[in-house]
Amino acid sequence: MAADKQILFRKLPAVDQLLANPVIGKALVSHPKGLVLKAINQILDGFRTDIREGNIVEPGPELGLDPVSLRVLKRLELISMPSLRDVINATGVVVHTNLGRSILPERALERFRSIAGGYSNLEYDLDNGTRGSRYVHVEEILKELTLAEAAMVVNNNAAAVLIALETLAKDREVVVSRGQLVEIGGSFRIPDVMRKSGAKMVEVGTTNKTHLKDYEEVIGPETALLLKVHTSNFQVVGFTEEVPMSELVKLGERHGVPVMEDLGSGCLVDFSNYGLIKEPTVQKSLVQGANLVTFSGDKLLGGPQAGIILGRRDLVTAIRNNQLTRALRIDKLTLVALEETLRLYRDQRLAMKEIPTLVMICQSYDSLRGKADRLYKLVRDMKSNNFSIELIDGSSKVGGGALPLQELKSRLLCLIPKRLSSQQMEIWLRAYAPPVITRLERDRVMFDVRTIQEREFEIIARAIKDLAVADPIEGGV
Ligand SMILES: *Cc1c(COP(=O)(O)O)cnc(C)c1O
Repeated sequence: MAADKQILFRKLPAVDQLLANPVIGKALVSHPKGLVLKAINQILDGFRTDIREGNIVEPGPELGLDPVSLRVLKRLELISMPSLRDVINATGVVVHTNLGRSILPERALERFRSIAGGYSNLEYDLDNGTRGSRYVHVEEILKELTLAEAAMVVNNNAAAVLIALETLAKDREVVVSRGQLVEIGGSFRIPDVMRKSGAKMVEVGTTNKTHLKDYEEVIGPETALLLKVHTSNFQVVGFTEEVPMSELVKLGERHGVPVMEDLGSGCLVDFSNYGLIKEPTVQKSLVQGANLVTFSGDKLLGGPQAGIILGRRDLVTAIRNNQLTRALRIDKLTLVALEETLRLYRDQRLAMKEIPTLVMICQSYDSLRGKADRLYKLVRDMKSNNFSIELIDGSSKVGGGALPLQELKSRLLCLIPKRLSSQQMEIWLRAYAPPVITRLERDRVMFDVRTIQEREFEIIARAIKDLAVADPIEGGV
């Protein structure tokens, strides 16, 4: 017979009893009392819910003072950790939006530290001793690298598109192809951004084909902008047609309407030179005559989160003078990281060597093989009933909605389930300190060495060794 719920509730230790327990008393030395109380209340609430919902029906030993205290300590450890933490990206997705997109180059980190920890000339003109503009710090170098007439940066590319549309097309019309009405991860949708900006969207063409005459038919005195959106995270293949930038520009010129391109990733290097699929570059878009281009700082560029706006001087100036820039402005830490990343692009070989995103995307299969062998060496002698280990070939992804069709050949270390299932192992690794984020494929747990840094090998080896002896129950699995 199940005990009466009231009896079970009364069996739970009281808050005061828990606070008086020496185990918790020790924790009170190193943790604020408020946090300890929070942990106690969370654990007690959990028990009460379990009792109410009938998950606990007997007054078992788990309701005793010491077992409950231990649960409190575990919870305390969990809630005293920072929420934003380092994780190991073993997924093989280089620009992983959920894992923070790009890793910054070492040089950017160094500058980041000193600018963050001290005063700077962020908005101070050192020549004249007067107020300056934060944008000058990246404006010149952006112009130099892309040959754009003018440049401006905001918080991210979504903000760049929003402010560009708001400035140039509020209450007027923007023409865009139906094939380019994209949604990008994290709910950036062209039609929604358009609405927010106050611009009226005029859709032309069809999902797979849009012709120049489709644009010609709708362009008129109300048209403020022709917009081209790079369909970064998908590709329509087969019977398709898009109007090339150069054609759109000619049409725009005839009607005095500027053409803007949202490039999404916006790379400055031509990946086809490195054996990958061609991704449109920023320079190419400008050479073809785009009057304004926008792109992200933390996708293929490999820098911090930022939105970069380049193009015709009058358009960029109008955007800069928009009151909204104040709300969307880039902060100094982002700015210094962006400047340092851009400085690396002055020498493309240096960029390819020092910008982690570019390094990881362009890593050769041979070097990945060597890398995987080095990781394997650390764990191959291990015996486990939980899984067996193997090295196999597989593929990684660029991510961040860039080069969606690009398969990057890679080498993977995989755990083949024995006593533990692959799902159990994936969860266990994700709960590890630090969390190791793997990918499940063909019922195996995969560690793709492309996105793992060599300095993380020891940690991964330790995690795999701990997992090798983890008990399905006690290991929290
Ligand atoms: C990623 C992307 C965006 C959004 O950029 P964020 O920097 O994430 O704000 C907008 N447009 C396109 C085409 C994109 O690929």
